[in-house]
Amino acid sequence: MNNKLYGNLIFELSHKGRKGYTLPKNQFGHHEIPADLKRTDDAQLPECDEMTVVRHYTNLSEDNFGVDNGFYPLGSCTMKYNPTINEEIASLPAFTNLHPLQPIDSCQGALEVEYQLQKDLAEITGLSDFTLNPCAGAHGELTGLMIIRSYHQSRHDDKRIKVIVPDSAHGTNPASAAVCGLEVVEVKSTADGLVDVEDLKPLLGDDIAAMMMTNPNTLGLFEKEIPEIAKLIHDCGGLMYYDGANLNPMLGAARPGDMGFDVMHLNLHKTFSTPHGGGGPGSGPVGVRKGLEEFLPSPHVIKNGDKYDVVYDHFNHVGAFLGNFTVILRAYTYILSLGKENLKMVGPLATLNANYIKESLKDVYELPITGLCKHEFVFNGLKDKSTGVTTMDVAKRLLDFGYHAPTIYFPLLFHEAMMIEPTENESKDTIDGFINVLRQIAKEALEDPDLVKGAPHDAPISRVDDVLAAKHPILTYKQLVNDNN
Ligand SMILES: *Cc1c(COP(=O)(O)O)cnc(C)c1O
Repeated sequence: MNNKLYGNLIFELSHKGRKGYTLPKNQFGHHEIPADLKRTDDAQLPECDEMTVVRHYTNLSEDNFGVDNGFYPLGSCTMKYNPTINEEIASLPAFTNLHPLQPIDSCQGALEVEYQLQKDLAEITGLSDFTLNPCAGAHGELTGLMIIRSYHQSRHDDKRIKVIVPDSAHGTNPASAAVCGLEVVEVKSTADGLVDVEDLKPLLGDDIAAMMMTNPNTLGLFEKEIPEIAKLIHDCGGLMYYDGANLNPMLGAARPGDMGFDVMHLNLHKTFSTPHGGGGPGSGPVGVRKGLEEFLPSPHVIKNGDKYDVVYDHFNHVGAFLGNFTVILRAYTYILSLGKENLKMVGPLATLNANYIKESLKDVYELPITGLCKHEFVFNGLKDKSTGVTTMDVAKRLLDFGYHAPTIYFPLLFHEAMMIEPTENESKDTIDGFINVLRQIAKEALEDPDLVKGAPHDAPISRVDDVLAAKHPILTYKQLVNDNN
């Protein structure tokens, strides 16, 4: 029997006068709180016994789905295993008790971590220097575009107001360009899912500030024409921007700096295994090639002899202090604990896992772009469309089997997109289990479509009205009556 108190808020479990905690006796004499600081009504706090509180929050935490309790094949978001050692290092009191304004001499260790990560990222990407200031991938994109704008302004080249973005790009790319005050120009993809060079050529001119590219792109494909595209963009005076949110399949294999890119961002919370979801925490370091270092934001960690120092000049400054430091610590721990040789295994294993799933299921799910993928790929829903079972139905049915759904209805190139990314961490057993369940759902769609369309049958709540939830979210709890009993 399930005795979980689903749907109850802690306030609804409250009984007037019930206590789970007693304050220690006052040892310091009586001090009257000034009348103007005193509240006039009682605080509306729940009153519960200790076991109710413990069970309430433990049950809630068990409703949460994460990489630690199940397979999480969320394409583009790269939900990797987060090694426990990352957490241990990130929670060392010597790091967590630091104050951002304490003297430089007293936090040399933390500055060394930042400095070394800047260097490691530069080596991994083939660029000259990095800033760890931006706090998300999109934040990194904005920073990178600010750097590009600063570069053009420094040359008094003010007519460069356009950014070329492929139609397969992550939605943050055009959004970042718009926030930076630049105009977005879309370039189409070919039927093979790569940037269409012939569609690009007529867009070029002396008003192009930059072209943004994602590689492997959002369909999980390696953009083969990068050398030609980089030459076209550079010849017209623009810069090449690399969206490296998901650099994982490329680690140690190919470097954006060597491909002709000038500026890029990385998502530490994807490529370098730090936990994310529900909006954070993140870190989107930005790197630049030689010659663009002066446009990097401050604060920036430098090394003078044996001593680490921080440069503050408030140029292109985007984030508070030295960035999201505990995310930085996790990424640095991940890089050090894998080491150079093992980092090179991340890409091949992620690629193998993705291709294995794709090939095992393409007889029952529609594969719009065939051929080898990198770390992720896109199905366009079930192959047999006659049942009326949609990608949304398949995603909801997966929940009944204890799997997180893949990314769905993105990228926008296919109506029933279902984007799967297994990552390099998963065992063959886990992946086979996932394949079997997706095959079973395809079979159910034919034999009993209503079973799939009515899913999930086994989750704490069934389907929510997505549109209503997005447009009229109820984000606060209205206290009904203080006294529940
Ligand atoms: C996730 C992602 C981003 C945005 O990163 P956030 O940290 O969510 O802002 C940008 N580009 C690509 C390709 C991504 O996958």
